[in-house]
Amino acid sequence: MTTTDDTVGRVYLVGSGPGDPDLLTVKAHRLLETADVILHDKLPGPAILSSLPDDRTEDVGKRAGGDRTRQEYTNERLVELAREGKDVVRLKGGDPFVFGRGGEEAIHLAENEIPFTVVPGVSSAVGGPGVFGIPLTHREHASSVTFVTGHEDPTKAESAIDWNALAATGGTLVVLMGVGKLGDYTGALLGADMDPETPLALIERATWSDERIATGTLATAVATRDRAGIEPPAITIIGPVAKTRESVAEWLVRDAPATAIGEEDR
Ligand code: SAH
Repeated sequence: MTTTDDTVGRVYLVGSGPGDPDLLTVKAHRLLETADVILHDKLPGPAILSSLPDDRTEDVGKRAGGDRTRQEYTNERLVELAREGKDVVRLKGGDPFVFGRGGEEAIHLAENEIPFTVVPGVSSAVGGPGVFGIPLTHREHASSVTFVTGHEDPTKAESAIDWNALAATGGTLVVLMGVGKLGDYTGALLGADMDPETPLALIERATWSDERIATGTLATAVATRDRAGIEPPAITIIGPVAKTRESVAEWLVRDAPATAIGEEDR
């Protein structure tokens, strides 16, 4: 691969989609084959990660020792590799700019005058519900959709999320990173008078070979999670659309998630 300035490489912030290798974009697939180095964490999922070439791959995923350190390390490593003249794919689960700190990486690259390209991916927030037959909008049931992090503690005074306002949108709420604090934010929504019977779905590891879905209501959210033993990565869909699945289930045909990319070439 070449860039216009041949002393500095280019960084590609690439979305891997929710995990099924068939949902990588053609561009992501091409860049994975040609990049000098691929930096990834765990979120792209086992099917995609197991097919990456070991000799060009670095794992910069979370480890014991603190997320903050890891993010700074990743930021710095991207700059360092680009300055060595390497073309680098920073592979991120879903879409690189939907949570997951892709924005911070982009700003760090710009501050260090490293050319970069953003390659969008299918966000788990959209594709996850989609493959299970849950549309995020519906002419009669939901005219808006809000993506929100469930990671913040809703009882904290400094929380940036206004759950009262979210309870009142009448649209669909998609919560990412919201397994651990499910009871806190569903409690906040109930406290803001959102209908306890509002349908809710928890989707774990969407499009991975061991994906799962559990459905309930806003009021039964925690029991639904605990009964199914839902763990991260998972998304929470709150709103009438979560029930659509029941009406389409009989005719919704799922292709089995592919096991690995480029298997035939290896
Ligand atoms: N950029 C990613 C989101 C990163 S934040 C995207 O666009 O999908 C990490 C959160 O994403 C997880 O905690 C989980 O809520 C969600 N997530 C990512 N991949 C997922 C998957 N395959 N199934 C369910 N949730 C997923």
